[in-house]
Amino acid sequence: MTTQRNLTREAQRNDYPTPPFPEQPQAAPGLASKMIPRPDHGEQHYRGSDRLQGRKALITGGDSGIGRAVAIAYAREGADIAISYLPEEESDAAEVIALIKAEGRQAVALPGDIRNETFCRQMVHSAAEQLQGLDLLVNNAGRQQYNESIRTLSTEDFDATFKTNVYAMFWITKAALDHMTQGATIINTSSVQAFNPSEILLDYAQTKACIVTFTKTLAQQLAKEGIRVNAVAPGPYWTPLQSSGGQPMDKVMAFGASSPTGRPGQPAEIAPLYVTLASAECSYVSGQVWCSDGGTGTL
Ligand code: NAD
Ligand code: MG
Repeated sequence: MTTQRNLTREAQRNDYPTPPFPEQPQAAPGLASKMIPRPDHGEQHYRGSDRLQGRKALITGGDSGIGRAVAIAYAREGADIAISYLPEEESDAAEVIALIKAEGRQAVALPGDIRNETFCRQMVHSAAEQLQGLDLLVNNAGRQQYNESIRTLSTEDFDATFKTNVYAMFWITKAALDHMTQGATIINTSSVQAFNPSEILLDYAQTKACIVTFTKTLAQQLAKEGIRVNAVAPGPYWTPLQSSGGQPMDKVMAFGASSPTGRPGQPAEIAPLYVTLASAECSYVSGQVWCSDGGTGTL
């Protein structure tokens, strides 16, 4: 019976949308609600099994994409959740807050710009205060704006990408450690771009490599305190990051075509890695980068 159900769920995965996708430009940061087709964050099918019962999680960029799928999965595994996001993403965030509450878990909304150090500190302390603790941090928010050449890549763009993807992770993690004790876990979202960079992502790919090194060094520092630090490296996933300037529109319309599966991953397909890394069952896993790229075999 169980085997039959698993086979059926596997077959559903094979029905996930394949390119070509419609033209759908959005201004950054973009909304999941405007994507065609709508991404699958696991809303209809993720089933938890108490793997994160009673845990308190802060997920940056938890309004959409991979962060939303992680928020849904963590809530269904029994965690209380705070999500951070940009104010212009309020409508996406409201959907996630409702989904977390529907599981009977506490949901905290923290809009603001993480390129600001003061906001990062206040945001983390507010999450810990409202959740009455903090023992899971998912540094997942990210900025990706493609640019064809170093000659046209401005200092402002370079700075915004590093502030969002690298500095904010540093500030948020530092603040979170004020609240974390033995058993706490930090998970950072890197990318296959850290290992196989695209020529049009000069700034973004560098930040994703920084995240790998940050993860490996911090894992060594915090091991003695019993705090684990890991990273996830997604391949191509169907999220607003890509259609709001992350790729040229012709690449968005063919997104995932070059992966061996011939389609992009859906956020629901990567959330289980974040659940497993967060779970106490993985108590000897730290300083690692787990990849999910649809068969390319990046790592
Ligand atoms: P997404 O657009 O759904 O999520 C990114 C989130 O980052 C946004 O929702 C936004 O809330 C947040 N964010 C961006 N700038 C911010 C700022 N200044 N202040 C506060 N929040 C800010 O897209 P996603 O693809 O789910 O991205 C999540 C992570 O996955 C990112 O780190 C991204 O680099 C990484 N990633 C994505 C892919 C992919 O193909 N989608 C591949 C590899 C890595
Ligand atoms: Mg978003």
